[in-house]
Amino acid sequence: MAKSPETEHPQKAIGWAARDNTGTFSPFHFSRRETGADDVTIKILFCGICHSDLHCARNEWGVTNYPIVPGHEIVGTVTKVGNNVSKFKEGDKVGVGVLVASCQKCESCQQGLENYCPNMILTYNSIDRDGTKTYGGYSDLIVVDQHYVLRFPDNMPLDAGAPLLCAGITVYSPMKYYGMTEPGKHLGVAGLGGLGHVAVKIGKAFGLKVTVISTSPKKESEAISKLGADAFLVSSDPAKVKAAMGTMDYIIDTVSAVHSLAPLLGLLKVNGKLVTVGLPEKPLEVPIFALVGARRLVGGSNIGGMKETQEMLDFCAKHNIAADIELVRMDQINTAIERLAKSDVKYRFVIDVGNSKLQ
Ligand code: NAP
Ligand code: ZN
Repeated sequence: MAKSPETEHPQKAIGWAARDNTGTFSPFHFSRRETGADDVTIKILFCGICHSDLHCARNEWGVTNYPIVPGHEIVGTVTKVGNNVSKFKEGDKVGVGVLVASCQKCESCQQGLENYCPNMILTYNSIDRDGTKTYGGYSDLIVVDQHYVLRFPDNMPLDAGAPLLCAGITVYSPMKYYGMTEPGKHLGVAGLGGLGHVAVKIGKAFGLKVTVISTSPKKESEAISKLGADAFLVSSDPAKVKAAMGTMDYIIDTVSAVHSLAPLLGLLKVNGKLVTVGLPEKPLEVPIFALVGARRLVGGSNIGGMKETQEMLDFCAKHNIAADIELVRMDQINTAIERLAKSDVKYRFVIDVGNSKLQ
């Protein structure tokens, strides 16, 4: 008979799980594998709440295998290392992002693009090599192969740095790959949530002019005064949108819901690039005339590889970039998720796992 999540492995763990598509969280006892030769065991201190956690908890992508313990913006302290582990020692501050394993053999893995490995294993809602389910960072501990563990820079705050492990790399990687880093160029950031607000900060660090494209007029003053954006465009204001047509070199689209790409493409110059990283539950239409008529490009991007994720963390540490967060306890996550669904967060919820009573 198959063992239960609580007894299938030797290390006891507790987290908060959603058990059906209401996405309501409650305490969940499960277990983690023994610390293997290449493994690092981590006491989780903080975990960001990404909109992907919400999509998954509510089964909006149709792939959720309940019960699900989300969380892939994990920061904690190393408590145990396996015999082959050279990168980390007990007491080190480390991070874990969206993936915890990949095949290490395919073309993508060979190029350090583990994030495009067809056999990658996600931090939660995946089946691990031993056939058991992966559970994420809304929990007290995790065991991860050292290759998928990041060094957390010394000067990076553990709580506000956590969201960089998904939100940060998801916007940094396409900016590098698609050549969206030329100082002085004009970047539009569509959607000012977790990913969007980090994109503003990283864009400024690259020396870009940054305009936020948002549905929320109330976010304007802080976007400029606190996050450092140069301009703010409310997407429902036709006069301002008209005036901004054809002015942007690049757009990074972080919108989590189905939306039209045509108005965004209209904001781009000739040869402009729009990269979508948001993952709405239904496909978006590609307005072909807006592409063809101005040699514009639409691309996509999925988090980043391990080497680039470390590079991004070090880049953010150097430029004093971290997320603007609202710290919550584990027993507040249901309210936090409700607020996230309404775009009501400044700008990332982070669970203070270390100071939460988990049951
Ligand atoms: P978030 O914090 O909820 O931010 C999304 C923002 O999108 C909102 O703050 C809102 O900004 C805007 N928005 C929401 N509903 C909208 C609507 N109906 N029309 C127009 N704009 C709307 O989410 P997040 O954590 O940044 O994640 C954003 C998306 O990226 C999610 O779909 C997530 O699953 C995906 N994601 C992808 C990757 C990847 O590797 N590609 C990684 C992480 C997350 P305004 O209030 O400013 O309009
Ligand atoms: Zn995420």
